[in-house]
Amino acid sequence: MGQNSLLQEKVLILNKYYQAVQITTVQKAICHLVKGTAKVITPDWTTHSLEEWIKISKFYENGETKLIRSPSIAIIIPEAIYLPYYESLPKTEVIFSRQNLFLRDKYTCQYCGKSLKNPKDRTIDHIIPRSRGGKTVWTNVVLCCKKCNLKKGDRTPEEAGLKLLKIPKSPKWQALILEDFPKHKKESWKVFLNFAGILSD
Ligand SMILES: [Zn+2]
Repeated sequence: MGQNSLLQEKVLILNKYYQAVQITTVQKAICHLVKGTAKVITPDWTTHSLEEWIKISKFYENGETKLIRSPSIAIIIPEAIYLPYYESLPKTEVIFSRQNLFLRDKYTCQYCGKSLKNPKDRTIDHIIPRSRGGKTVWTNVVLCCKKCNLKKGDRTPEEAGLKLLKIPKSPKWQALILEDFPKHKKESWKVFLNFAGILSD
C-alpha cells in the first residue's frame, strides 16, 4: 500500500470525555498530533504524544506494522486519537429518511428477511397503520418487501399473522456511519465504540 493511501486511512476521534465522535483521515490526525491538539490513543486507553509515538514506532520499524514515513520521522499509523480539548458530543439522532431507514434495516424485509437490493422491491411499512393513527417515526416504520406489505394491508402485524424480525429502534448516527463504511471499521475501535454505547445492541 502506498503512502498516499495510508494517509487516507480512517482514524477514530475521541472527545475529551473519551466518546467516539467522528472519523477522520490519517493525514488530518497527524496534523492534530503535530499541533499538539491530539494524542494517539491505543485500545488499552493509554495516550501518547507525537514524541512518545515516534519512540514507540521505532520498535516496529522492521515489522509488519504500517508506517508513515517522511524524511524526518516514521510513525505507526494511528487508528484512534484523543482530543483533550474537544468538547463536541456524539450526535445520537439520525435524520429520518428513506435511505437511513434502508441502512438501519440492512436492506432486508423486516418480516420475511428477504434481501431487497433492488430499490424497486422496497416498500415502507407502518407497523401501526397510518389509518389507525400510526406515525411516521423510527419506531413505527420498517423496510418491507412488496409481498409482505400486500399480505399485511391495513392491519397490525399480529392481525396479519406477521412477525417482525426485531423491534425497530431509532438508530444512532455513528452506528450508521460505521455500517455504511464497514471496510473502514477497525478492530482497535471496538473498545472505544463499546464505551460510547455505539455497538451496544
Ligand atoms: Zn417480506
